[in-house]
This record gives sequence, structure tokens and C-alpha cells, in this order.
Amino acid sequence: WAKADGRSQWALFEPERDAREITRYRLSSALPAALAGEDLLVHYQPLRRLADGRLHGVEALVRWEHPRMGLLGPESFVGLAEESGMIVPLGRHVLRVACRQAFSWFGAGRSGPFVSVNLASRQLRDEHLVDDVRAALADSGLYPQQLQLEITESAVIGTDPLTGHTLEALSEMGVRLAIDDFGTGYSNLAYLRRLPLDELKLDGSFLRGLRCEDEADPVDVQLVGSIVSLAHLLGLTVTAEGVETQAQVTILRELDCDAGQGTYLGRPADPADLGRLFDPT
Ligand code: C2E
Ligand code: MG
Ligand code: MG
Ligand code: MG
Repeated sequence: WAKADGRSQWALFEPERDAREITRYRLSSALPAALAGEDLLVHYQPLRRLADGRLHGVEALVRWEHPRMGLLGPESFVGLAEESGMIVPLGRHVLRVACRQAFSWFGAGRSGPFVSVNLASRQLRDEHLVDDVRAALADSGLYPQQLQLEITESAVIGTDPLTGHTLEALSEMGVRLAIDDFGTGYSNLAYLRRLPLDELKLDGSFLRGLRCEDEADPVDVQLVGSIVSLAHLLGLTVTAEGVETQAQVTILRELDCDAGQGTYLGRPADPADLGRLFDPT
């Protein structure tokens, strides 16, 4: 059997890879029960306006409180959920929890901070998404303007007609749409211009050359400045991801970047811990 398939010989003698595969398999199998049993938690990270430090929004980030493995981040199970299709009910759960949490923090209003929820491409291709979003808003009491949905470039590039209609419907409802991790995919602003977007989230990799003010890489500074200008030209607000130093805040503010997100401005936290930090208004 091993001889018939050259690759399986390797598989037989790679205990580390086998262990990894078994873990993946176990996690994937345990995910439905975790979702049903409320072992999936949502943490939140603040997005702050750079001009005055006030809250721009909060991003919902899913976690799995695994009975034996501890608190797992999305990198250990979101990919598996996308492969199995579990991402659809999982994403719907995060959406509902996040909208309820945001209502408890912000109340209902047409302006003020929003809650930002990540959408997998598989969810964008789900015909029930628009209804799910409408239901999550109705059940929570949140206005559409208080919900932002984050999609990646790869999820929208070469979009099929259904995805296009879905984005239009969400936008018409008043929900904010953001492009996440901008700069890591292969799309460009000219292409994104055709989509009904409200916000561009600039990937943290662009901020690496901006960590110290004295040694800021002039090319990186110009690059970020140009993206901010182009985004503004297209009517998008810009949030810089991965803000880890005061120098980055200073430079981004000079470049007219609207908001930032990162460890320097607030780590992702349990809703109980985060709620204390918010302005009373
Ligand atoms: P993302 O949407 O780009 O979220 C930001 C990630 O950057 C989070 O990782 C956050 O903890 C991390 N981060 C925060 N501050 C900093 C910083 O200063 N420096 C750096 N280097 N990183 C920072 P996390 O929570 O591990 O999430 C990873 C990814 O998993 C997210 O990236 C998002 O793509 C995905 N994800 C999270 N929650 C969900 C969800 O509910 N549904 C789906 N489909 N994907 C999700
Ligand atoms: Mg995101
Ligand atoms: Mg991101
Ligand atoms: Mg990112």
C-alpha cells in the first residue's frame, strides 16, 4: 500500500505532521459541539480615532474556550470552519453576539461607534447572509449604521453576481462595509472603487517601517500617505491595523489616517474588561 503511493511513504514517517493532522481533525469534529455548547467567545478590540483618541469602533474577534487546549485564537479553527462549511453558522453566531454586545455598550443611534464583524468569503456566497444580518440587527436593536462588515480583497475579487448583489443589498440597508487587510491581496483601489465600501483597513505590514520616528522609512511613509489619500479620494475612511508604537500614531496622524487599531491603542479583550475603557458618551 505504501509503495503504491509514493506520498503515503512520507506520511507514514512524519509523526509531527500526523499529530498536526490529528489535531486539525479533532478540532474540526469538535467545532459543532463547541458552537452549540457556547464554548465560542467573542473578544473585542478598540479602533481609535487618531485625531482625538476617541472610539471609532470595536472589532469582534472570535475565540474558542477549549476544555483541554485552553483559549484558541481564530488561526487554529477559522480555516477548518471554512473548509467544513461550519463558518456559516459560526459567523452567524458571532454576528448575533457582537450586535447584542454593541447595543449594550452603545445603545441605538445613527452615529457613534460601530461594531465590526469579519466575514469569510464563504459567508458572502451564502444566500441567507442578508437575512441573517437583518435578523441580527432587529434582534439586538442596533441600527445598520452601527454595524460594519469586514471582507478581504480575495473574497471580493472576481466576484460572482450573487456576491455583488449581496454587497449592494447590505450597503443599501445602511450597513458599513470595510475591506480588511488591504494590501495583502491582489486587488487595487481602482477595482475596489466599484464596490460600495465605507472603510479601508490597511494591513499592519505597512506600518513596520514606521515604528520609530527618527528612523522611519521614507518610502513606507510615502506609501501609507498615498494609500490614505487615494482612499479618501474614493470616500473611504482609513483604519491602520497593527499600531504598536506612539511613533506610528504620530506619523499616521500627520498622514491624515482616520483611525488605528493595535496593541498600542488597546488589545483584544473580554467584553467585561473592555467595557470599562469606553467613554461614557
Ligand atoms: P483581522 O481581521 O485582521 O484581525 C486583526 C488581528 O490582528 C487580530 O488577530 C488581532 O488580535 C491582531 N492584532 C491586534 N493588534 C495587533 C498589533 O498591534 N499587532 C499585530 N501584529 N496584530 C495585532 P486574531 O484575533 O488572532 O484574528 C486573526 C484573524 O482571524 C482576523 O484578522 C480575522 O481575519 C480572523 N477572524 C477573527 N474573528 C473572526 C470571525 O468571527 N470570523 C471570521 N471569518 N474570521 C475571523
Ligand atoms: Mg478584521
Ligand atoms: Mg484585518
Ligand atoms: Mg491584518
